Amino acid sequence: MRACVDQGLCIGCGLCASVAPEVFEMNAGGKAIAVTDTTEANGESVKSAIDGCPVSAISQGE
Ligand code: SF4
Repeated sequence: MRACVDQGLCIGCGLCASVAPEVFEMNAGGKAIAVTDTTEANGESVKSAIDGCPVSAISQGE
């Protein structure tokens, strides 16, 4: 399972990359992308990013 960032919604605030830096990175366009799968080890961080995203751009993914 890998989180998915809706590129149309993301405003590039950087919160997710700050909360879960091992999962989210900011791309050249200033939007966040998930670069690794969600695991047991980073699951809580991913959840914090999903909950904290101000525009609800992050979904759990498949
Ligand atoms: S927290 Fe949401 S709006 Fe902010 S960079 Fe991440 S996906 Fe984009």
